[in-house]
Amino acid sequence: MPPVKIIEAGRPGFGTAIGRALRGRCPNCGRGQLLASYLRQVDHCAACGERYADIHSDDIAPWLTILAVGLVGTPVVVAVERQVDWPAWLPMTVWPLAALALALLTLPRAKAAIIATIWFTRSPGSEPS
Ligand SMILES: [Zn+2]
Repeated sequence: MPPVKIIEAGRPGFGTAIGRALRGRCPNCGRGQLLASYLRQVDHCAACGERYADIHSDDIAPWLTILAVGLVGTPVVVAVERQVDWPAWLPMTVWPLAALALALLTLPRAKAAIIATIWFTRSPGSEPS
């Protein structure tokens, strides 16, 4: 069985596709929007017509967000808490708000990156329902 050829003429490389998706742009052309709203992806790119309606990222983006917030947030919290002596109410306010902000910033970018990865590998993940 011959190896699957992923890189095709006219298609961007994986890094380019991910970079475009992280900026909320179409992984194919980089001009059209990838997300129509905070988390809802477009059916197709308005600029190049690339179809995204069949790509289902499912629960991967929330899991990546949890992983990213935990991996980034926990060392920061531990490092700051060792250095700073502040009143108890302050970290109980700051850390949850910081974690929420980081999660809200990460979630759409994680979804866009997953969509770009699925698009790039041409594995839409459609399962029989
Ligand atoms: Zn496009």
